[in-house]
Amino acid sequence: MKVQNNISLKEFNSFKIDAKADLFINIATINDIIGILESGLLEEKKYFILGGGSNVLFASDYNGLIINMGIKGMHIMESNDDYIVLEIGAGEDWHNFVKTCVKSQYYGIENLALIPGKVGSAPVQNIGAYGMEQQDCFVSLKAVNLKTKEFMELSKDECRFGYRNSIFKNDLKDNVLITSVRYQLSRLKEFNFSYKELEQEIQKFPVKEIDLQYVFDTVCRLRTSKLPNPDLIGSAGSFFKNPVISDENLENLKSEFPDIKYYKSDSGKWKISAGWLIEKCGWKGKRFGDAGVYENHALVLVNYGNAKGSDILSLAMKIQDSVFERFGIKIEPEVVIVQ
Ligand SMILES: Cc1cc2nc3c(=O)[nH]c(=O)nc-3n(C[C@H](O)[C@H](O)[C@H](O)COP(=O)(O)OP(=O)(O)OC[C@H]3O[C@@H](n4cnc5c(N)ncnc54)[C@H](O)[C@@H]3O)c2cc1C
Repeated sequence: MKVQNNISLKEFNSFKIDAKADLFINIATINDIIGILESGLLEEKKYFILGGGSNVLFASDYNGLIINMGIKGMHIMESNDDYIVLEIGAGEDWHNFVKTCVKSQYYGIENLALIPGKVGSAPVQNIGAYGMEQQDCFVSLKAVNLKTKEFMELSKDECRFGYRNSIFKNDLKDNVLITSVRYQLSRLKEFNFSYKELEQEIQKFPVKEIDLQYVFDTVCRLRTSKLPNPDLIGSAGSFFKNPVISDENLENLKSEFPDIKYYKSDSGKWKISAGWLIEKCGWKGKRFGDAGVYENHALVLVNYGNAKGSDILSLAMKIQDSVFERFGIKIEPEVVIVQ
């Protein structure tokens, strides 16, 4: 176990914020975890668990220990004619995992192609896109509680998944290090085209037969056309969650803003497009120094080069205030603010 001092986090977060961490450790094996549990560091210092850094904003330097998840590996746990269960190390790259499934003809996770980050972070906010969430294929995960030092296995029910939410953002927030995740993929050809935009794009370029590779390529094409390439422009994808409101609130808003964008949420309430709210307040494409709102997508805040985390955070707060003033809706960050 090697603890590094005074490390720049620029290469460890997709916003490319040049914050410094006092201490940094890469976890590559279970033995590294045992090492850190026995070191006493967790009792002395504050700590933060980091995956690929694509959903975090370092708002200042981090005066503590960054625990970077790097456990690799992919193992078949169960396999029959209908499905396969895989156990994936939390430090594996999510998109590589999706690519491997597509190449192997395992169905079910292709709509989540090109989401940056690591496998161990996917359950934390129950990543989702194009009509599906990781919970649709999720079986269970292994983790260790860094406070109680207890190794544990959690089932799908125990993870309490919701819209960009799970137990890891609530009761177990910040204290549980996920080490591997099990997903069940189907061997039977079945797709999820419930998301209209994906279905339309699939129909746009007729092919003889719709196969897994074609769906994967279509998802990647759609995403690339909308979101900034993290290698070129720093961002963390959608900065805010879509707010969920009641029937009554929706009716009031519809009467004032007839073109408001909304969708039925799983809870039976209504999800309003946060991007639409922000765009209506005139933020799309706005730039203040190197911090800005992406020109193709108002929900995405970007670092054009040398923005500090605090620049992005103050822009986010101004946006939040202006949306509240105009619509009376408080939009909450999806991105985890670390300081
Ligand atoms: C261009 C772009 C597009 C995106 N598109 C989407 C999208 O379509 N849908 C979507 O849902 N998200 C999207 N995101 C957000 C992001 O990709 C996901 O949230 C992803 O799961 C974050 O993974 P990560 O490894 O980078 O996590 P990090 O950013 O490193 O961490 C995120 C959170 O998970 C915790 N965490 C990380 N690893 C572990 C672990 N092993 N154990 C316990 N806790 C852990 C961290 O403490 C933190 O709270 C996008 C981001 C970008 C930059």
